[in-house]
Amino acid sequence: MRLIIMGPPGAGKGTQAKFIADHFGIPAISTGDIFRANVSAGTELGVKAEHFMDAGEYVPDEVTNQMVRNRIDEPDADPGFMLDGYPRTLAQVEELDGMIKFTGHALDAVVVLTVDEDEIVQRLLQRAELEGRADDTEDVIRRRQELYTEQTEPLIGVYRDRGLLIELDGMGEVDQVTQRIFEALDVVPQS
Ligand code: ADP
Repeated sequence: MRLIIMGPPGAGKGTQAKFIADHFGIPAISTGDIFRANVSAGTELGVKAEHFMDAGEYVPDEVTNQMVRNRIDEPDADPGFMLDGYPRTLAQVEELDGMIKFTGHALDAVVVLTVDEDEIVQRLLQRAELEGRADDTEDVIRRRQELYTEQTEPLIGVYRDRGLLIELDGMGEVDQVTQRIFEALDVVPQS
């Protein structure tokens, strides 16, 4: 099973990605989490990514693509993966196509969570207080949303044209949203 979850910053992608990935026994691969782990560990990759992340900018495609390529080469991703936060640009879409084609597989579905913009900002500001993420200040949140609209939203059309898109309401309780995703993927959730 090869899945992508998309949606604006704060849409709840990470939370849902984990539930879905667990169900299918595949890893949830979050580029944001991998970058943050590298920043904390002070790796070369972390050093390259940190100032882009702090400013709410996208990390350059070459850096991000290479990181994802390495990650999906790991044996745990042989049966598939759930990508959260990748691809985010058209260049990343092409790169991912190449990576998947190389393995002889295909993407199964792209889940898009649609949410209310005002609600999102509220969620992110709350998360800022709870987690203290360096990129959860109001200006940076705004920049991340702007970039999503400019660079990532166009990907929805690409995947719609391929017949892969599953667009869902991302508002409401976490488990309601999970339920909607499972229904759309036509699977019975494990309790
Ligand atoms: P968000 O809640 O904004 O979706 P993420 O945790 O997914 O946050 O990502 C945090 C940051 O990591 C992004 O703002 C960006 O700097 C970087 N990042 C994550 N994924 C990508 C990607 N696919 N391409 C470029 N930069 C990325």
